[in-house]
Amino acid sequence: MNLPACTDTEVLIIGAGPAGSATAIALRQAGVDVTLADRHDFPRDKACGDALMPDTLRALECLGLGDRVLEPALLAESMRVHAPDGTAVDVPGNFACLPRRKLDQSLLEAARDAGVRFLPRHRVRGPIQSGDHVGGARFSVAGVASPQCVGARLTVLATGAAVEPLQAFQLLLRRTPSALALRAYYKVPHSIARTHRHLKLSYDAAICPGYGWSFPGPDNVFNIGVGIFSQGAGRSAIPNLRGVWDTFIRSFPPAREIVSRGRPLAPPRGAPLRCNLEGAQLHRPGLLVVGEAAGTTFPFSGEGIGKAMESGLSAAQAIIKALRDDGSRTDTAGTRYEADFRALHAARYRGYRRAQSWLAWPAMCNLIARRAGPGSFASQRLEDMIQERGDPGDLFSIPGLCRTFLESRPPVPPDADRAPASETGPPPRSAIFPQRWGFCDSRRDLPVFDGVS
Ligand SMILES: Cc1cc2nc3c(=O)[nH]c(=O)nc-3n(C[C@H](O)[C@H](O)[C@H](O)COP(=O)(O)OP(=O)(O)OC[C@H]3O[C@@H](n4cnc5c(N)ncnc54)[C@H](O)[C@@H]3O)c2cc1C
Repeated sequence: MNLPACTDTEVLIIGAGPAGSATAIALRQAGVDVTLADRHDFPRDKACGDALMPDTLRALECLGLGDRVLEPALLAESMRVHAPDGTAVDVPGNFACLPRRKLDQSLLEAARDAGVRFLPRHRVRGPIQSGDHVGGARFSVAGVASPQCVGARLTVLATGAAVEPLQAFQLLLRRTPSALALRAYYKVPHSIARTHRHLKLSYDAAICPGYGWSFPGPDNVFNIGVGIFSQGAGRSAIPNLRGVWDTFIRSFPPAREIVSRGRPLAPPRGAPLRCNLEGAQLHRPGLLVVGEAAGTTFPFSGEGIGKAMESGLSAAQAIIKALRDDGSRTDTAGTRYEADFRALHAARYRGYRRAQSWLAWPAMCNLIARRAGPGSFASQRLEDMIQERGDPGDLFSIPGLCRTFLESRPPVPPDADRAPASETGPPPRSAIFPQRWGFCDSRRDLPVFDGVS
């Protein structure tokens, strides 16, 4: 019989995506001993749209990693949201695009530089348990015959949308994912890339109530994809995702131009999403669940990198408090983490869910978009929603609808997508990212960590 080889650590984190790496970095910055394990070696690919929304940029800034991680990213100063009939609403803000292969590798490197121990090719098999308390995990390791185990005072599960780890740790409440999404990369000539400056999110009628996107990345490479929700909006069965992608390309002119003029870089790749803080428990004794494993991805838009990182920051804060301030009573960490994270974000998830349910009425979405020109009530509320300054319910509600009609402005003309001939590319970095945002200390909802300058 092969006996497991065991090591010990203060905190074990399983899964080295944005949620796991953010948790690991924040804990190390506070001096905690951390081991991070993943079933893959890095760099590794991950099916994603690669759009970094304002919450992701803030989380990076709070970890002191904004410049380092975003150095190779393509920066943008607005996102264009298309209603089912194609009407466009421009949402100003700070956005970036960076392939996940690079983003996740960069975060992992930052974790290792901070002193986190990384265990690649470690596939988690289940918890080490003492009664109901999780005290680490068991792994199988590619190329190693005997099982491995890591004992820990606290364990963090950050394994994304995979169902098996949630099941193995007895946390799973629902198998079915909230959505499925598929993306493909296309490289286009620079002359084409420079005319598609915006990140474009589309609720095109042909795939309604799903969504599609065309996001410009570094090196004239575009990420084009579609997502289909598996619940809400009256949808009972998920259609063939590749067929939905083909329909979107035929129907959405910007994506059609990129695909017809570009060169595919790899076969399209799909993955499930777990949204809306549903589908799994967020903790059990000795164990905290962060990121998509906890359903932190937003419905309606499918963005999840930022909230995955923020859930990691909240978990790290609760763990530090438990280890340092509560006389090492680790049982307080999970309840504090869930209470803090829900208090900060539950209203946002409700708002995004409501926005998703409105997609069942495409004509209504079109009417809103046609009254959401620059400076209108609807465009400002959409900006607030994406910047997380307000409650999305302010727009997606009956009073919001009334104000949309009372305070309307004409929408962006359809041809405004074209950049002027003189424009050579995205705006300069200094125009988008001021020297220091100060979000970490000014925003109540993101923790401040020791060691962040
Ligand atoms: C097609 C698509 C497009 C998307 N587009 C966007 C977008 O543009 N912007 C955005 O913000 N969000 C987007 N999302 C959502 C985003 O990808 C997720 O919210 C985000 O990846 C969640 O991060 P995470 O760290 O929780 O999980 P992940 O990034 O999935 O990381 C989980 C890690 O756990 C590891 N792991 C899994 N199982 C095991 C195991 N058994 N043992 C050990 N390790 C394991 C994996 O190898 C992985 O490294 C998209 C999702 C999809 C599917």
